[in-house]
Amino acid sequence: MNENDKRQMIVDHCLEMNRTGLNQGTSGNISLRHERGMLISPSGVDYREMSADDIVFVDQQGQPHGELNPSSEWRFHLAILNRYDAFDAVVHSHPVHATALAMCRQDIPAAHYMVAAAGGETVPCARYETFGTDALSEALLEALENRRACLMANHGMVACGATLGRAMWLAVEVETLARQYVIARSIGTPHILDRQEMTRVIDKFKDYGRQPNRAT
Ligand code: 13P
Ligand code: ZN
Repeated sequence: MNENDKRQMIVDHCLEMNRTGLNQGTSGNISLRHERGMLISPSGVDYREMSADDIVFVDQQGQPHGELNPSSEWRFHLAILNRYDAFDAVVHSHPVHATALAMCRQDIPAAHYMVAAAGGETVPCARYETFGTDALSEALLEALENRRACLMANHGMVACGATLGRAMWLAVEVETLARQYVIARSIGTPHILDRQEMTRVIDKFKDYGRQPNRAT
């Protein structure tokens, strides 16, 4: 994929994020690995007025190259891409149900087997740190050990993937799980699947969604 296709893909996915209710306003941001750095959405720009040229390239050292300022969260996007080779895309948003759990600083437990889509027995909630700081990057790197997604205390969620399609898919799954769990808790006490079952499901998820000769 050439650079312009990547830029347009970020714009399209930012719009989709708001259209589907995964995010609202100018909250949230998306990055895609590019050469020895990343392409990332600009800070505070209305997605409906954002063009491919507005996407900012940030090099591996954190130097921005573009007309606009990169997302205020460029530090954690770059830290994740620099730490984890398996990820080429990072989606950050403030979806209502995932954020409600994050406000209570709660993980999403294995009340549904789909929690394994994020790579483990829970979708963990990373500790609170001020937005845009190196401390927030550290908190997320810790929470993402053996995970592809996490909640962010008093803030939102982040989902990663080998492609932007996979990262967006996971972001939607995490918000869906959060919504299901919040509703289940309002009508009863959700049953949590045990470790043995989740180990089995996590294993089955290793190649879930991978089809021969088909990009995701
Ligand atoms: P930006 O508009 O700078 O990307 O920030 C939005 C956000 O979600 C901060 O956490
Ligand atoms: Zn945010």
